[in-house]
Amino acid sequence: MTDSARIVASHGRVYIVETTGGQRLSASARGKKSDFACGDLVDIQILNGEQAVIEKVQPRTSLLYRSDQWRSKLIAANVTQIVIVVAPVPSYLDELIGRTLIAAESQDITPLILLNKCDLPEAAAAREALSYYEKLGYPLLALSAKEDVSALGERLEGHISVLVGQSGMGKSTLLNALIPEARARVNDISTALDSGKHTTTHATLYHLDERSDLIDSPGVQSFGLAHIKEETLPGLMPDFSPFVGQCRFHNCRHRQEPDCAMRQAVTDGAIAPARLALLQRLQDELAQGNAW
Ligand code: GDP
Ligand code: ZN
Repeated sequence: MTDSARIVASHGRVYIVETTGGQRLSASARGKKSDFACGDLVDIQILNGEQAVIEKVQPRTSLLYRSDQWRSKLIAANVTQIVIVVAPVPSYLDELIGRTLIAAESQDITPLILLNKCDLPEAAAAREALSYYEKLGYPLLALSAKEDVSALGERLEGHISVLVGQSGMGKSTLLNALIPEARARVNDISTALDSGKHTTTHATLYHLDERSDLIDSPGVQSFGLAHIKEETLPGLMPDFSPFVGQCRFHNCRHRQEPDCAMRQAVTDGAIAPARLALLQRLQDELAQGNAW
């Protein structure tokens, strides 16, 4: 019997799927190939009350990759919102925000920059620095996970969201505040699956309510960009996109070329120098095949 299900946890080659009827089963792929991700809608064949085989994946609306040494691996599928968690202390890496925003743009996913730990006095300066992204049209939400996460809860409604951030930014605190019981429940299943094996959970999907889900992918700080075509990069950065097509040379790489509209915009103060540096670094990585 073939059924439709969603992958709600991935542990390498073993998955937990949830059928449309709400039944949870352990599942693995038929054959060697196992290119599935948390959030994927899949056709499964149920073997017994506990196990299923994944037959095929249904078309995805978005796909996010790892950015580390396993960069061809998939992290999450069908995500509609990426929540980038940053905090004033410890200081965050601005480059990771820039990279994650590009990953979001490349998959038409809505980003949300979340500044956590706003109870700390250092938050004011961080907020000021993040206003650059707000001016580009990206939403910014400032809160304190230790005090009140309801504003974030509202922004998650109707979305399949994924949380990313460097360690120490407060991802676990946020997650625990948003979904205390769900967390414990899935962990039971995950622990059962992991018994005896040294597998780590790559991603877990939690239901917040009927129409809102949240994916946690432990250790993920940003998403892989290796799938992006170098020449599309400026179009994925809203500070550069107004200048696309305005350089003298159509194949301008925005370095030493004369009449480069992008470099001129930096000189004019319309674009931050760090953003041009990020664009150039990504161009080089993509050209050299070592983009992360
Ligand atoms: P993770 O590594 O991103 O999962 O971060 P944690 O959730 O473990 O939080 C890292 C540290 O920041 C912990 O000591 C938390 O108690 C603290 N923390 C988390 N959220 C807040 C917050 O809103 N305000 C303050 N002051 N500290 C926080
Ligand atoms: Zn140029």
